[in-house]
This record gives sequence, structure tokens and C-alpha cells, in this order.
Amino acid sequence: MRILITGAAGFLGSHLCDRLLADGHEVVGLDNFVTGSRENIAHLMGNGKFTFYRHDVSNYIFVPGKVDAVLHFASPASPNPQSPTAYFNLPIQTMKAGALGTHNTLGVAKAYHARFLLASTSEIYGDPLVHPQTESYAGNVDPVGPRAVYDEAKRFAESLTMAYHRQHGVDTRIVRIFNTYGPRMDLEDGRALPNMLKQALLGQPLTVYGDGQQTRSFCYVDDLIEGIVRLLMSDEHLPVNIGNPDEMTLVQFAEAINKITGNKAGITFVTDARSARDPQRRQPDITRARTILGWEPKFDLDAGLRKTIPYFKQKLGLI
Ligand code: NAD
Ligand code: UDP
Repeated sequence: MRILITGAAGFLGSHLCDRLLADGHEVVGLDNFVTGSRENIAHLMGNGKFTFYRHDVSNYIFVPGKVDAVLHFASPASPNPQSPTAYFNLPIQTMKAGALGTHNTLGVAKAYHARFLLASTSEIYGDPLVHPQTESYAGNVDPVGPRAVYDEAKRFAESLTMAYHRQHGVDTRIVRIFNTYGPRMDLEDGRALPNMLKQALLGQPLTVYGDGQQTRSFCYVDDLIEGIVRLLMSDEHLPVNIGNPDEMTLVQFAEAINKITGNKAGITFVTDARSARDPQRRQPDITRARTILGWEPKFDLDAGLRKTIPYFKQKLGLI
């Protein structure tokens, strides 16, 4: 297949490029580098099966040649207001990438009779009142809250994807991605793993926001990519959660990072405006992924961290 990937220079997009090229496909990458980096795709530049265009998906997209599948991953993705690349600090770009970007990429899929896959998120469940989160749960999102620019853009994107499927017969997929980590995350984007792993490797105390009793479930990137590829190759049109169901508190997560890195500096609790609006519990119910895709994660937190640490050490100049 010839596959268009938006957000190709980002963390997940660049891993998808690698995987789909390794599977023998041709890849056309699109990115405007608002949060991604050229370094993530530098190794692909000599590859005859990879083409790259610098482009903002909020503007009309023209791809020369045929396209068999479109994977829409372009969007800022970090919720940490302390980072300049967080969606809090790129609110209009984030809404445009989710709304106009989804419209434009669906337009490409419709024009080429291509398959379409939307990168949605666990954030569409907001601060969930149902636990663990099943795909049938409609969520608890404040449309004018601090995370709304991201959450509502993704909710709109899901609705528009289903509208193109129902009205135009576009062959669509929706993956609801839960917290994922691994090499090529931006060390400065403020998400939990880059913040804490960087702190641990530098021998600093780990910043835990609030009382650290909020929970998340962290998925290693190779597991996520396998789930996405299986979904792309399936014929499932309704949303599918992909994530690791191993739920832990942020204190437990920080302790695991300190243990594996041998960091003796402990934990510092930080309370800021964000902590008050932090979703309190998050864990994917992956029954649908198990049943429909035969997928479940293989890496536990220790194994995933071991594969991630060398990248962080190299970025920090420690090796
Ligand atoms: P990332 O910031 O590393 O990658 C996003 C990429 O999209 C970047 O390269 C950025 O430059 C590009 N981009 C943003 N707006 C663009 C625009 N208007 N035009 C062209 N390119 C644009 O983040 P990521 O973690 O790789 O996330 C990728 C996708 O997966 C996002 O859609 C995000 O919402 C979704 N997602 C990620 C996670 C996670 O845990 N990593 C969880 C849920 C959903
Ligand atoms: N978090 C933290 N310390 C940090 C960064 C994040 O305690 O340095 C917490 C954050 O408050 C949230 C969880 O880690 O409860 C996951 O945050 P992240 O930014 O990775 O994404 P979210 O799951 O909130 O979208």
C-alpha cells in the first residue's frame, strides 16, 4: 500500500513510518514540525519508499500519486501547560488539527477511495465516571475546561470520521490511544514519562503533580504500534481502545522509575492549577482489542522502561 501519515515527524508518527516501511509499504509523511522533530525521521530520508512534505494539515492537502490509506496523527498531544508545545499553549492550532485537519485528511481518503485511520485518545472520556473505560462510555468532558481544545477537537474528529463513513462510505477506523511512551518522545514536552525519566537520569527528585494518587496505565510504543497496524488491517469501523490496562498511581509510576534508574533523590509533590483538573483515573478496557484484533500488550513497565532509557541517556549526553 501507499500510506499517507500525518504527524510523521512526531513520536508515534515516526514509529508508524518505520513499522509500515518494514512491512513493505510505501510511506508519504506530512508534518509542520510544530511539536515534532526532523531528527525523528532523519534516518528515513535516503529511503526510496519514503517521501516527506512539510505541510500544515489544517490547509488543503494535495498528495501526488495514488494513496491507499491515510493515518491522521497530526496534533499537539501534551497537556502540560509548562511546556510551550503543549496543547494548552497551542489552543487554536490544536482545534484546527483535530477539526480542519481531520476534514482535509478524510477528503484525501474519500478522493482516493483509501482507508482512513484516526488517532483519537483516551481524553475523549474526559475525567471518566466509568472505570475502566469501555468504548461504549460517552465520557465526561467540560467543553470550556482547560483540556477542552484537545478533547473536543478529538471528539469532533471521531464524529466527522463516522459521518464520512456513514454518508460517503469511507472505509474508516478510530483508535483511542491511552498514555504511550518510548524512544523519540520529546524530552521537553512535559508529559509524565519524559519529565520523570529525565529527572531520574539527572539524579533529581521526580515531580509528582497533586497527591500522586491519580492513576494512569502506560503502554510501550511497540505494543501500541502493533495494535494500530492490526486495526488498520481489520474491517472494524467503531472505536477501539489500545493501551496497557496495568493501572498504577503516579506515585507508583515515579517509584518504578526511581528504582530502575537507581535514582536516590526521591519524589517532590507539586501542586499547581493543573492538578485540580487532572483526570483522576484512567485504565483502558481492552476487551474489544483482544476480541476483534487478537491484540494485547506484551511489554510490562520494567521492560518498556529498559528499552526507553538508552534513548533518554543519549539525548541527555550521558552516553
Ligand atoms: P507528537 O507531538 O510527538 O506528534 C504529533 C506530530 O504532529 C508532531 O510531529 C507535530 O509536529 C505534528 N503536527 C501537529 N499539528 C500539525 C499540523 N497542523 N500539521 C502538520 N503536522 C502537525 O505526539 P504523539 O504522542 O506522537 O501523538 C501523535 C498522535 O497520537 C496525536 O494525534 C495524539 O493526539 C495521539 N495520541 C497520543 C497519545 C500518546 O500517549 N502518545 C495518547 C493519545 C493520543
Ligand atoms: N504528571 C506528574 N508529573 C509530571 C508530569 C505529569 O505527576 O512531571 C502527572 C499528571 O498530573 C497526570 C499524569 O502524570 O496525572 C499523566 O500526565 P501526562 O502529561 O503524561 O498525560 P495525561 O495522562 O494527563 O494526559
